[in-house]
Amino acid sequence: MSEITETIFSRIIRREIPADIVYEDDLALAFKDVNPQAPVHILVIPKEPIAKLADAESKDHALMGHLLLTAKRVAQQAGLENGYRVVINTGLDGGQTVYHLHLHILGGRHMKWPPG
Ligand code: C5P
Repeated sequence: MSEITETIFSRIIRREIPADIVYEDDLALAFKDVNPQAPVHILVIPKEPIAKLADAESKDHALMGHLLLTAKRVAQQAGLENGYRVVINTGLDGGQTVYHLHLHILGGRHMKWPPG
């Protein structure tokens, strides 16, 4: 369980603040990152406010699969036929800043490894 369940992403889900939403279904929402790190930078989030990957539980099994398949679908929709990167920053050392689980889809340029 997480200590924080209300973040700016909950407000985006409720349409209380604007976001460039590119996909939505019952379980997930995808929108363009406001500070893009690549020509295409989209975030996929669960509507349920799981704070971070480290907080996901067995009951979230299907939702986790759904988020990955949503990332694939959104990447396809964005025309990233040459490939893309999917990133989940988790916790302090993972560089996470918003404590509502999200998958970054980064594409439109060649990605380097290792990331910083
Ligand atoms: O993985 P991390 O927690 O650092 O990523 C949070 C992401 O949320 C950032 O890339 C930031 O630009 C994005 N963001 C956003 N819209 C907001 C607030 C943050 O796209 N209103």
